Amino acid sequence: MTTYDFDLFTIGGGSGGVRASRFAANLGARVALAEGAQMGGTCVNVGCIPKKLMSMAAHFHEDFEDAVGFGWQPGHATFDWPTLIARKDKEIARLNAVYETGLAKAGATVLRGWARVVDAHTVEVNGARHTAKHILIATGGKPTRAPLPGAELAITSDEFFHLPVQPRCAVVYGGGYIAVELASILNGLGTETTLVYRGERLVKEFDADLGNHLAPEMQKKGVNLRLQTQITRIEKTAAGCAVTLNDGTVIEADCVLFATGRAPNTAGLGLAEAGVKLAANGAVAVDDTLRSNIPSICAIGDVIDRVALTPVATSEGMVLAELLFGTPGRSTNYPLVPTAVFSHPNVGSVGQSEQQARKGGTTLRIFRSSFTPLRHTLSGRNEKTLMKIVVDANTDRVLGVHMVGPEAGEIIQGFAVALTCGATKAQFDATIGIHPTMAEEFVTMREPV
Ligand code: NDP
Repeated sequence: MTTYDFDLFTIGGGSGGVRASRFAANLGARVALAEGAQMGGTCVNVGCIPKKLMSMAAHFHEDFEDAVGFGWQPGHATFDWPTLIARKDKEIARLNAVYETGLAKAGATVLRGWARVVDAHTVEVNGARHTAKHILIATGGKPTRAPLPGAELAITSDEFFHLPVQPRCAVVYGGGYIAVELASILNGLGTETTLVYRGERLVKEFDADLGNHLAPEMQKKGVNLRLQTQITRIEKTAAGCAVTLNDGTVIEADCVLFATGRAPNTAGLGLAEAGVKLAANGAVAVDDTLRSNIPSICAIGDVIDRVALTPVATSEGMVLAELLFGTPGRSTNYPLVPTAVFSHPNVGSVGQSEQQARKGGTTLRIFRSSFTPLRHTLSGRNEKTLMKIVVDANTDRVLGVHMVGPEAGEIIQGFAVALTCGATKAQFDATIGIHPTMAEEFVTMREPV
């Protein structure tokens, strides 16, 4: 029988790779994990965590303003970007260590360096070769830049989180998750922010009502929105950059941020040379069991380009560890992945959009409510929250629950459990609301629109 140095060799210390490795080690496997950068991958270092901390920071100025309507007379608040970045970096360093010690505690070997696949059972790190029964590719993704003259003058989300100085005037390019989240952070922290998007509706993968609701709400908060517009070139100026749009407008900015998508991170890994089939965008092509065409080489997370979300990567990591070393049974519930966009206001969603459900030919009942949250009756802020439920008219099953408004992610998480249990609209109706909350609206919408 062939003996290997390890049962599992994971390349990539992000959320997916670490979870799979810890699970495998806890199931008795001999595990090694290679990571060349800080532990924790995109989520911990340049994604979910720093983004959410900075998004929280960006909310405070509204709290100060809203407080006046409740009788407070807050003093003159000022914001210091370097303090936020330094405090955020400290927390991230703590998380880097938590990831590393978690692996060590589970008994996994951590190798610091960039790894390359040599063949179906061999990985090279820092010139040393290691053999493994299974190799797991969990190398995530990286930002891509729209190809246009001067693109190299723009930064991406990778650099955004380490900017030493707060931009005075920023142009954000794109209309997806990262564009609306980072534009909201910049705007909330006081940067004059323009969001340029080539399409007509922000966050277009979501139910159309959400993007249609989000755009004017972001505008009300101060973001300059330029929809159906493209950047044609970026040029260096003494003060920063001149950003030329296709309608001839030129915006002077000291920061241009591209949020124009992400690509799987497979370059230089030796995968194609080892015979691993890659998709056109570089993603590792895997089957239902997360194996590539070479059965000993598996892949999870952003690098397989299914659903680029941390909890999906960690779910895939646990599924894979159990498939390889435990009792298979766990699966990733792809159709019901709840998700939130931490734009201001937040977007939250689980299940099918109205458009997806209609494409499937289902007869639908749609429930929708747009209202002013109680807080703003006193704050005086002109902000509306949107809630929407998509119901299969034949079975009464709730197919999708969608929201734009404060803490949408917190609210949608619970409804994701209900949808996972197959809840019907009648069961929503039979649920007692918590009064007074925004979330109670989801169980009190009676009349279809
Ligand atoms: P998205 O795919 O969500 O958005 C990319 C945007 O860039 C789209 O609006 C797209 O326009 C635009 N774009 C793409 N190419 C060009 C081009 N050549 N010129 C102009 N515009 C272009 O990617 P993101 O980078 O925002 O996020 C990547 C993924 O990361 C997300 O899909 C999500 O899975 C994950 N993520 C999750 C977060 C969360 O959970 N809160 C937060 C951030 C990221 P068009 O729509 O016209 O194609």
